[in-house]
Amino acid sequence: MNIDLLVTDCALLPVPGREPLIECGYVAVGAGRILETGSMDACPAAAAAIIDGQGQLAMPGLVNGHCHAPMVLFRGLADDLDLATWLHDHIFPAEARRVDAEMVYWCARLAAAEMLLSGTTTVADGYFFEDEVARACVETGLRCVAAQGVLDFPAPGVGDPARNIEAAARFIERWQGRDPLITPAIFTHAPYTCGRRTLRRAKELARTCGVPLFVHVAETRNEREQIAEPLAPSPIGHLAALDLLDRDTVCVHCVWADDRDLDLLAAHDAAVVTCPQSNAKLASGRAPLTAMLDRGLRVALGTDSAASNNSLDLFREMDFAAKLHKVRPSDPTAVPARQLLRLATWGGAAALGLESGHGTLVPGAPADLILIDRNQPRLQPWHGPDLLVYSGPAACVRSVIVNGRLIVHERRLLTIDLRETCAQVRRLALE
Ligand SMILES: [Zn+2]
Repeated sequence: MNIDLLVTDCALLPVPGREPLIECGYVAVGAGRILETGSMDACPAAAAAIIDGQGQLAMPGLVNGHCHAPMVLFRGLADDLDLATWLHDHIFPAEARRVDAEMVYWCARLAAAEMLLSGTTTVADGYFFEDEVARACVETGLRCVAAQGVLDFPAPGVGDPARNIEAAARFIERWQGRDPLITPAIFTHAPYTCGRRTLRRAKELARTCGVPLFVHVAETRNEREQIAEPLAPSPIGHLAALDLLDRDTVCVHCVWADDRDLDLLAAHDAAVVTCPQSNAKLASGRAPLTAMLDRGLRVALGTDSAASNNSLDLFREMDFAAKLHKVRPSDPTAVPARQLLRLATWGGAAALGLESGHGTLVPGAPADLILIDRNQPRLQPWHGPDLLVYSGPAACVRSVIVNGRLIVHERRLLTIDLRETCAQVRRLALE
C-alpha cells in the first residue's frame, strides 16, 4: 500500500450525521483516494508525507450544491431587493456589461479560494464562459461540477441564443474525462428564461452525454403564477410535462413546491438543492425541506452566488438552515444539526450524482477532507459534532485536501497567489 499522505493523531468523523466520532485516529491517502482510516493503534508507520493532526478533527470536505462562482464580482452590488428587481434591474445589466472570459476566470479563482478556505472541497457551479470556471478550479484544486449556462436570450459568450445548446455540447466535449476534478454539466437557467424547446433539447443533450442537468425552479411565488397553466399547474409540473425530470436532473430552490410537486420529484427521483440564505435574503420564501426529506428526496445544500447570499461559506449555510426550519413549525427538533452535516457532505454528493462514497472518509472514497482546529475558543468545550453546525467553524478550518493533494495548510492556500487574485478582482470591480 503506497501512502501518499498520512494524517495522524486526529479525531475522525468518517460519515457525518451517521457514525460516532473516533477520538484518536488516522487517515491514509493514496492515488487520490482514502486508503484506510482507524484508531491510532493500527496506524501505518510510513508515508510519503505526514500531517500531525493533534488537536484537529478530520472530516469529509463540504459539498456546495449550487453556486455561480464568478458572481463574487457582484457581492454587495444590490442588496435588500426582491428577486425580479435584483435580477432584471441590477444583475442582468451588470452581467451584460461586465462578464467576459477574463472576469469569469479571476472571479472564479477568488470564489474557489473563499470556498477552500472555509472547508468546501466540491462545488456545483453554473455560469457562462464556464471553461474559465473549470480552469480556475483545476488551478486552485477545487473539485467542480461545472455547468455551462443556457438562456433563450443573448448571454455572455453565447451572443446567438439559437446556438446555446451547441455551446453546451462543445463545453461538455472539451471537459468530459479531461481532469479528475471536473465533471461537466448543463445549467438551464429557469423555466421563465428557457422555452420548452430549449429545455427539451438541453435534457436530450444531457442524456446523450450522461451529464447532470441543473435548473432553477419554483424559486418565487411570482414564477409559480407565471408558469401555471391548465396542463402544467406549477413550474415543477411544467418540467415533468416536458420529460425533464429524472435522477440526473437537479432542481435548484423548489421553494414554491407543493405536495404534488414533491411527489413528482420523488416519482422521478429528481434531486433538489436548497439555498436557504439566498432564498431568505431575496425574500423568495422557505423551501419545504422537512417534507422533501420525509419523501426521501436527494437534497444538497447550496450557497447560490455571493451576490445573493453574500457568502460562500457552507458552515454558515448549515447553521442558518438548521435554525430557519425550526421557526415556522415551532419545532426545535426539525432538521437537526446531524441532518445538515449529511446534506453538506455525502447527502449533497449523492444529490449531485457523484460517485458512491463521495463526501465520506470510507476507504475508496475520493480523498477530499478537511482538518478542523478543535482548540479554537468557539469549539470549547467539545460536546459533539453538532458544534460544527451551530458554532460556524469556517475560521477553524486548518487544512484542506482535495483528490489527495494538500491545497490549504495551516490556513494558507498553497495553490494560488491570493493577493494577486484579490488585486485582479478589485481591478475588475472598478472597470
Ligand atoms: Zn442560482
